[in-house]
Amino acid sequence: MAETKYIFVTGGVASSLGKGIISSSIGKLLQARGYNITIQKFDPYINIDPGTLNPYEHGECYVTVDGQETDLDLGHYERFTGIQTTRSNNITTGRIYQNVIEKERRGDYLGKTIQVVPHITDEIKRNVKLLGEKYGFDFVITEIGGTIGDIESAPFLEAIRQLRWEMGKNAINVHLTYVPYLAAAGELKTKPTQMSVKQLQSQGIQPDIIVLRTEHHLSDDLRKKVAHFCNVDLEAVIQSEDMPSIYEVPVNMQQQGLDATILRKLDIPVGETPQLGPWRNFLERRSKAKEIVEVALVGKYDLQDAYKSIRESLAHAGVYNDYKVKLTFVNSEYLTRENVAEKLAGFHGVVICPGFGQRGTEGKIVAAEYTRTHDIPTFGICLGMQMIVIEFARNVLGYADANSREMDATTSHNVIDIMEEQKNITQMGGTMRLGSYECQIRKGSRTYEAYGNQEVVHERHRHRYEFNSHFTEEYENHGMKCVGTNPESNLVEIVEIPNLKWYIGTQFHPEYSSTVLKPHPLFMSFIKACIENKGK
Ligand code: GLN
Repeated sequence: MAETKYIFVTGGVASSLGKGIISSSIGKLLQARGYNITIQKFDPYINIDPGTLNPYEHGECYVTVDGQETDLDLGHYERFTGIQTTRSNNITTGRIYQNVIEKERRGDYLGKTIQVVPHITDEIKRNVKLLGEKYGFDFVITEIGGTIGDIESAPFLEAIRQLRWEMGKNAINVHLTYVPYLAAAGELKTKPTQMSVKQLQSQGIQPDIIVLRTEHHLSDDLRKKVAHFCNVDLEAVIQSEDMPSIYEVPVNMQQQGLDATILRKLDIPVGETPQLGPWRNFLERRSKAKEIVEVALVGKYDLQDAYKSIRESLAHAGVYNDYKVKLTFVNSEYLTRENVAEKLAGFHGVVICPGFGQRGTEGKIVAAEYTRTHDIPTFGICLGMQMIVIEFARNVLGYADANSREMDATTSHNVIDIMEEQKNITQMGGTMRLGSYECQIRKGSRTYEAYGNQEVVHERHRHRYEFNSHFTEEYENHGMKCVGTNPESNLVEIVEIPNLKWYIGTQFHPEYSSTVLKPHPLFMSFIKACIENKGK
């Protein structure tokens, strides 16, 4: 297309309605029509990026190939569309202000008073258009975090208002709201939606399409009412009912013509509806899979979103192995040698999760010991890999005080050590080893086999500490093999115990790159091993 079209996705009434899923679904449907798309998220909080946020605040921190720590919605964008995101796909208020303040200090504003309007809004507008202008996308979908009415989102809405005015037919707004069901009255209520749209209109933005999140089916009359009160066409009032899986949402949106309505609103010929063949195949396999494989997630954050990408990666791998993966969170803070047998009883595999800081690490080590000595398939990811390494040092190499420098700064058996280049770092934000690095895999290893005999892979990282190569030989001699290394730095990226069914730890995060149509080979292989272990 000659000009890039912009779709703004806003949310009203409540947070957590799934703007990220709707944005991803729009992206998926337009991509299926052959368009070149990207999805970006603007977060109205003041942190420069979510890297320093506790997962209890906003869930997992997702990492892009170019090493940006981002909102977890970018994970949905990649899992739905298979298109990699970058640093420019997630912008926070903090980054907008940082850019503006840097320009001010440089003297770029030539003595002007710096104000929210126009300087902050101009910087937002510049960032909205950045990807479209640089790469010539057909569509740029921009999700605005937060809910209409938040003080923080006001500059973003003002920027959208201006952009819509400037872009005319090239920009539309999709507004996502919620229709609550009042059980006592037995009624679905549209008033919150009407209020939310009024609030949006009061900021000068008329929604073109309204998507209603609902737990019950909405009648045509109810949709008509919303259309009537909110100045939108009936065909532009779409309902997004609860689905058995988020991956059903694109199909549901397509059935109601969301993508066709978007195209019409943007004056683009609609054409034929794409079949979504491979996607439907995934959904079909997912619904057909009846047998269950049970996996424990050993971590310290008792929150669904904290390990979002790991959960999704395991689910993808389950589908392609024709199994349902039942995940159970096991809090490592309460795991002890005394109760581990009971707490991990009945699981066919165990994932030892990533994390930061001391809390819950001893429990992860206990879990690693239990699964190693009972030959239960185990996947240690990042901190999880480090815990596998520490456990082995303590219980096989005989170093009772083995630890990571992160947890014990004085141990002489620092099998996990601070990286050389990290030693003098004082700023916490954005300074870890981040993003995609090459990893060379030892031929003939279990990991090599799991990767489908690939010798070179690229995986994303997010860590400050690393395997201490001073101990490599000792590990190798005692049965834990360092089978993946970075060719430039020689850092150990993967360890495995080949004598066990499946016992692998990766310093990187494979979960960031598993998508619906391309499940990650390590998760595929892990789930396969769990299924085999079940059938033993
Ligand atoms: N805390 C560990 C490190 O910084 C592991 C990080 C992680 O699990 N992402 O090296």
